[in-house]
Amino acid sequence: MSEPMNELKSYPYEAPRSQSLFERATVVTPGGVNSPVRAFKAVGGTPRFMVSGSGPYLTDADGRDYVDLVCSWGPMILGHAHPAVVEAVQRAVGRGTSFGTPGEGEVELAEEIVARVAPVEQVRLVSSGTEATMSAIRLARGFTGRAKIVKFAGCYHGHVDALLAAAGSGVATFGLPDTPGVTGAQAGDTIVLPYNDLEAVRQAFAAHPGEIACVITEASPGNMGVVPPLPGFNRGLAELCRSNGALFVSDEVMTGFRVSRAGWYGLEAAREGWAPDLITFGKVMGGGFPAAAFGGRADVMAYLAPAGPVYQAGTLSGNPVATAAGLAQLRGCTDEVYATVDRVSAEISGLVSDALTKEGVTHRLQTAGNMFSVFFTDEQVTNYDEAKRQQAYRFNGFFHAMLSRGVYLPPSAFESWFVSASHDARAIERIAAALPAAARAAAEAQPA
Ligand SMILES: *Cc1c(COP(=O)(O)O)cnc(C)c1O
Repeated sequence: MSEPMNELKSYPYEAPRSQSLFERATVVTPGGVNSPVRAFKAVGGTPRFMVSGSGPYLTDADGRDYVDLVCSWGPMILGHAHPAVVEAVQRAVGRGTSFGTPGEGEVELAEEIVARVAPVEQVRLVSSGTEATMSAIRLARGFTGRAKIVKFAGCYHGHVDALLAAAGSGVATFGLPDTPGVTGAQAGDTIVLPYNDLEAVRQAFAAHPGEIACVITEASPGNMGVVPPLPGFNRGLAELCRSNGALFVSDEVMTGFRVSRAGWYGLEAAREGWAPDLITFGKVMGGGFPAAAFGGRADVMAYLAPAGPVYQAGTLSGNPVATAAGLAQLRGCTDEVYATVDRVSAEISGLVSDALTKEGVTHRLQTAGNMFSVFFTDEQVTNYDEAKRQQAYRFNGFFHAMLSRGVYLPPSAFESWFVSASHDARAIERIAAALPAAARAAAEAQPA
């Protein structure tokens, strides 16, 4: 790819090739995208069609490059086209792309996950985070013989029917009501509670004795913006689940292998000496390919077919190319890499906050390990209702000012920002150069 340019670009500017691709896309694809958060619907404008990525940079169809602070929504923790991952993929592809039989790569990837995350005694590979949470819930219901599940407003667990109620991510970005197409029967056993509210969970268990199969939560939510658990919240959930005979399902699709070697479990639960019963993974563990997983207690996992009665399957589960990519990426995620990602994240988030402060923009920077996001509010955000109260209209001008200066942010005020170990001084310099104008745009923004 071309050398990244650090010169500032004028705003607004045209993106004719992206525009024409988007026009073609909207003819053949609903909304022109294959996942709603990729559209610029919330921020306005034309989504950039990317043609290549290298390290911390993405290059679009018009030949402009961007410092990428989305990182494919989390997976690209080593940066784009990391040589070790690319090489592993090329070698795997040359051996054939799918066999429909077991293979060594699956065993190695499972062993790597089990070695990193202590409570995961057994793991089942799937192809997306959605499949991981959907299967974990089915397993929890099968294991406990109970129907109801508890989830929290603003948490996103993929587009599983039963989990879309009051979901985060695109559902939050577009302010969608509960999704048409999900029937009352599919959602009727889902109890939605406010995040960070242990008392609400206690009351739910009291109101439905012996009926709740599991509580599922993002280990540290990043799909309503970054809203970390208050101290003791996750431990309290684990205790309430245990004392009520339910399973605690920690969704680490976003945080897993990103915020530490052992994900959020490694940052919090391992130190506090407790463990979830089941954990779901995705994003980083696929190395940019469709690979995800769920795992946990061996006695629970033993309920899965063919060992047990709960059916779960996938033609491409444990795909040899995806597992090769995931394994190469996880092996590349050394302690040094996590230290770098932590440092880069602290540096960039500090620059963002400083720039906004300088322009007098009321904001709150929220962090969870090396994930962070900015809320345009002056109060701590601890749940979805508080997240929605932010002045989200300030984000749009901020976003476009960054975009036009070659920095690609998530096109939503309700998403985590992601960095990689490849974000070097040069990339950070470009972000720093873009921020003053973006902060000014946020300061000048008026409610629609
Ligand atoms: C991304 C995400 C999912 C869904 O994963 P997909 O691979 O997009 O299906 C589930 N849970 C969380 C916490 C996520 O961030």
